[in-house]
Amino acid sequence: MEKLIIIGSGPAGLTAAIYSGRANLSPLVIEGLSSGGQLMTTTEVENFPGFKDPVLGPDLIDNMRAQAQRFGTRFETGDIIEVDFRKKPFTLKTENKIYQAHSVIIATGATPRKLNIESETRLWGHGVSSCATCDGAFFRGKEITVIGGGDSALEEAVFLTRFASKVTLVHRRDQLRASKIMQAKAFSNNKIHFLWDSIIEEILSNEKKLVRGLRVKNLKTNEVFDYPCEGVFIAIGHIPNTNLFEGQIDMDRGYIIVNNPTTQTNIEGIFAAGDAVDHIYRQAITASAMGCKAAIDVERYLSEQNI
Ligand code: NAP
Repeated sequence: MEKLIIIGSGPAGLTAAIYSGRANLSPLVIEGLSSGGQLMTTTEVENFPGFKDPVLGPDLIDNMRAQAQRFGTRFETGDIIEVDFRKKPFTLKTENKIYQAHSVIIATGATPRKLNIESETRLWGHGVSSCATCDGAFFRGKEITVIGGGDSALEEAVFLTRFASKVTLVHRRDQLRASKIMQAKAFSNNKIHFLWDSIIEEILSNEKKLVRGLRVKNLKTNEVFDYPCEGVFIAIGHIPNTNLFEGQIDMDRGYIIVNNPTTQTNIEGIFAAGDAVDHIYRQAITASAMGCKAAIDVERYLSEQNI
């Protein structure tokens, strides 16, 4: 029987572990296959306070993890496949283990959204990717497109100019959603070009089944044209990883609803933090902050229950 199980090991889960570990709750973190969350596929993080110089996403996660371990956090790997939050203690199942806990913090984060077109699925890993950090180096000296107009898309585009001869950002509107500072970085980079008001109808492949270009539609003129490139990076936002909790935890379009300003969900003893909850800020620092709040909420809840 665990006092606290934290599902997820991104900034929200690890900060919850640091705080609850320091409160002597000896938390158990269950981390899935994509442990560490989205920071694991990020390059330089420049806006996490406490780092004067940029810190690499995976290094930031490693540090948080070591800090959590220092205070007695235990880690187990396994994707939770089923939960029963209807009766206490709560039950969580992985492929080969059943856990019981007095309290749970859900910190399962979010996953990059896809275009959901057939050619994207077929060419995934053959020129289509959602991780510039992982795959950018494969496209040295080549022409690349990035899809999206938010901070992620611009960050990917700027990063990919290290390798690519040319990076084209394809955006469905004529205004970027990204922050002004990222826009300035992208606009001042002469390797980055823009296709405005444009959507991808199809990703085109050659006889080797590798990407050779995009079929693009301009939404203002309805013109459809082929645009050459050898790599396509999809950076169009995220979907919360909350399917598992459907029917038990209240949600709004997949994002877990908490009783603001606390992290309490509709079930007493179940708390939630990070990108599984927050569709507005979605920053490492805001996820961490919610993880901290969740740990404090758990501590109060358990002491009220005399656990
Ligand atoms: P986002 O801000 O939600 O932007 C998603 C972009 O993809 C938008 O431009 C959107 O177009 C476009 N899009 C969505 N669905 C699409 C589709 N089906 N087809 C074509 N385009 C589509 O997501 P994000 O860029 O991943 O950023 C998420 C959060 O993380 C934001 O809060 C961001 O500030 C933050 N972030 C921060 C940093 C940093 O500070 N270093 C880096 C990365 C991300 P519309 O604009 O037309 O909606």
